[in-house]
Amino acid sequence: MRILIVDDIFTNRYLLVELLKTLGHDYAQVENGREAIEALEKENFDLVLMDIEMPVMNGIETVHYIRNNFPAPANRIPIVALTAHNPELFFEDFRDSGFDKLLTKPYNLEKLSTIIDDLIPENKGS
Ligand SMILES: [Mg+2]
Repeated sequence: MRILIVDDIFTNRYLLVELLKTLGHDYAQVENGREAIEALEKENFDLVLMDIEMPVMNGIETVHYIRNNFPAPANRIPIVALTAHNPELFFEDFRDSGFDKLLTKPYNLEKLSTIIDDLIPENKGS
């Protein structure tokens, strides 16, 4: 799998990079929504891990843009929201915003691999 990490905080990206390396996935990383859109226009990815609160263009604006402006099937790429918020309070809102799943802090290998397997079934067992 090739996965795009979108987060303005270096240490958050660093931790996700380490987890993705351990899971054997390829990755690229950018710092805000505008850079994410540029990366997705240039390259193919299988999944996006997207922070919510970022400067320049936040996660909700970015998902909205991808869902409404990218051609099919690129507009349907699985996008996971990265957040510290309680999922029980926020999950419906994030679904409405166009996210597929929520990955809550603290991140760990099991949470991340479960989400990747759920969203990309052909990845299972690899
Ligand atoms: Mg942030």
